[in-house]
Amino acid sequence: MSVGVAILGSTGSIGCSTLQVLARQQDRFRVTALTGHSNVALLERQAAEWRPAYVGIVNGGMRDAGCGMRTGIDCLIEAATRPDVNIVVNGVVGAAGLPATLAALSAGKRVALANKETLVMAGELVVRAARDGGGEIVPVDSEHSAVLQCITGRRPTEVARLILTASGGPFRTWAPERVAQATVEEALRHPTWKMGRKITVDSATLVNKALEVIEAHFLFGLAYESVEVVVHPQSVVHAFVEFVDGSVLAQVGFPNMELPILYALTHPERVPDSGTRRFDPVAVGALTFEPIRPEIYAAYALGRAAAAAGGTTPTAFNAANEVAVELFLAGKIRFGRIARTIERVLQSYRPTGASTLEAVLAADGEARRLAREAACS
Ligand code: NAD
Ligand code: MG
Repeated sequence: MSVGVAILGSTGSIGCSTLQVLARQQDRFRVTALTGHSNVALLERQAAEWRPAYVGIVNGGMRDAGCGMRTGIDCLIEAATRPDVNIVVNGVVGAAGLPATLAALSAGKRVALANKETLVMAGELVVRAARDGGGEIVPVDSEHSAVLQCITGRRPTEVARLILTASGGPFRTWAPERVAQATVEEALRHPTWKMGRKITVDSATLVNKALEVIEAHFLFGLAYESVEVVVHPQSVVHAFVEFVDGSVLAQVGFPNMELPILYALTHPERVPDSGTRRFDPVAVGALTFEPIRPEIYAAYALGRAAAAAGGTTPTAFNAANEVAVELFLAGKIRFGRIARTIERVLQSYRPTGASTLEAVLAADGEARRLAREAACS
């Protein structure tokens, strides 16, 4: 009896890596549903290769989707809640992934969550949907997978502190004035990870790490004071976990998402995998750790402040960032304007409680409106 897997965002970086993993694990898993956003050609190729029972495309564009493909935004929820699906890999980027996460958890599925924006935007709702619906959230994000691998089998009260690592992105050693003027091409040149465009920009601003601090808080139930970040340019140590007795465990490996994806599918078990490059400490060489330089990562402190403020402030932080990154990638604002836009949104935004979907969606919409205003004025 193989386990049915739905991949939301199968045409993206996480989606394609998930299919690479599944190609080596066909005796354990079968692909039952795939969804894409607008890359019909790639989705068609994936569908022809994997023959899933369900294929959906959010924005089929002018082409006839054909081959029994469903179109429209509802395909995410349809794919995520099918009876033949046991695990939903959510590899969608941004807030668009939220409804499918909530629906899958409410339907009792395991959600292998790469789509961290979902937890930042609506952490309280997502955690509640899992509890009430019997679903389970398992992180795909490498740092959170590392934490999960270190704490599995331990009681929550034994964990004292997490230290997530950050590569620092391409501007780690740059002067602040130069960072503010960085081009799209420069921001997309990530030193250690090959990923989608939005998360690559988030790694350059360090917004990604602020999102990950909030993600860790909701996944592991730790206070924000107990989630720290250190810059580690080699991206070999993915996270440290300190236990109450002072002992520290870390999970290490070459930077590659296939291992965290596989672990999210098999947790708490481990299965043999021929595809991962064997770890070699000599090939890795020296590992270094540095504090965060606040002068080049202004958005990181904004994200931490939003986290501490709670309610819908993290929702607004995420929405403002999504809008600002989109404008930056479209060549409409400078790199330095991303943090500035987030800052201005958080200055004027009035937070509310974040315990209903209506409140979260209203906050998301309002922050997007404020961000468009702030970015372009
Ligand atoms: P990506 O841009 O390569 O792919 C995202 C996919 O999401 C697209 O291919 C598309 O199929 C889908 N999509 C985009 N907009 C959509 C919309 N409005 N509605 C429905 N589907 C939509 O991005 P990625 O790098 O694969 O990242 C996906 C998620 O995983 C992000 O939340 C990111 O932060 C997280 N993540 C990625 C990596 C990585 O290595 N790529 C690592 C950790 C976490
Ligand atoms: Mg990460």
